[in-house]
Amino acid sequence: MISEKIFYITLNFWFFLAGLTFIVLFFIPAPYGRYRKKGWGPVINGKAAWLVMESLSVLVMGLCFYFSDQTQNIPVLVFFLLWQFHYVYRAYIFPLTRRGRIQPMPIVIMSFAIVFNSINAFLNGYFLFQLSPSFNTAWFIDIRFILGTVLFFSGFVMHVDSDRILNKLRNKEQGTYYIPHGHLFKFISCPNYLGEIIQWSGWALATWSLAGLSFAVWTVANLVPRAFSHHGFYKQRFKDYPKNRKALIPFII
Ligand code: NDP
Repeated sequence: MISEKIFYITLNFWFFLAGLTFIVLFFIPAPYGRYRKKGWGPVINGKAAWLVMESLSVLVMGLCFYFSDQTQNIPVLVFFLLWQFHYVYRAYIFPLTRRGRIQPMPIVIMSFAIVFNSINAFLNGYFLFQLSPSFNTAWFIDIRFILGTVLFFSGFVMHVDSDRILNKLRNKEQGTYYIPHGHLFKFISCPNYLGEIIQWSGWALATWSLAGLSFAVWTVANLVPRAFSHHGFYKQRFKDYPKNRKALIPFII
């Protein structure tokens, strides 16, 4: 057990780190996938890296739940299932169904992700299972829960659908990038990132927690700079890249 004071000090620092990361990633895109470069040390098989690093989110949240005395609380149980629902996809279905050769990942990046996922799952789990006000079933008809859950699932559908379209492109020549088409790609370069941001904003709203908000903020910090990098990459590489397509938010940016 850690005290509430330590928890909130850690959480404040976590928000600060997210802000810092947001700025740094505009200058140095995280070196995995298309931005992988030499000089980041030894690498590991990409599929194994995703499996290991995302499994930490499943495991740490599972441990927080196991050691909680809130396991009989229905709204808390629903939050737990929502979290695991996403991470079973991200940790297992996403890497195991990826086609073609997956880019190896620098071990240092996988290690950052392991630390990030462990802290993030711990903060969210500890808040929900130890510190949260006692939720009761009236929460299910609260507008924050209803809207948050709608956003959570809408975001989920959006990024799974976009992941599927990108995955199809990987049937073609290995290590080559193509212009993605269809569904939300008609409007933006990175609908998978937009979906992820919407999903975790929904989570923050549905759980009405600062820990949930910190995850939404981190998702923005990780993915907004990367969406701009991807958009720039496409425009530079493909002379026929659709002119009206934006980076992340249809018709806006
Ligand atoms: P990307 O969109 O960069 O890549 C996803 C997969 O599609 C990779 O296998 C990639 O290959 C392939 N791909 C992407 N674009 C093309 C293209 N134009 N042509 C051919 N293949 C392509 O996503 P990330 O790898 O950055 O992230 C994966 C998922 O994880 C995303 O849905 C994202 O939302 C989520 N995520 C969430 C974070 C959070 O903080 N919540 C942080 C990071 C990721 P390759 O690997 O070779 O580039």
